[in-house]
Amino acid sequence: MKVVVNRDNCIGCGACEALYPEVFQIDDEGLSTVISSENIDDEKLTEAIEGCPTGAISKEECDCHKCECQK
Ligand code: SF4
Repeated sequence: MKVVVNRDNCIGCGACEALYPEVFQIDDEGLSTVISSENIDDEKLTEAIEGCPTGAISKEECDCHKCECQK
């Protein structure tokens, strides 16, 4: 599973970074970027997804063959 931010929808409010700074960071453009999709705490991620005012955060299946969704 990987965490995705749709930067076209992100307004840079910083809520996701405040809730889960290990995963989200506001970058130089003032928008949220995903810095890590590893060891995700599902509860915290759900809070961030539900707390995003524009619905810009989602989780997607990935094909990295490293994380648990591929085991
Ligand atoms: Fe962007 Fe949503 Fe994060 Fe706010 S909570 S910075 S709108 S991704």
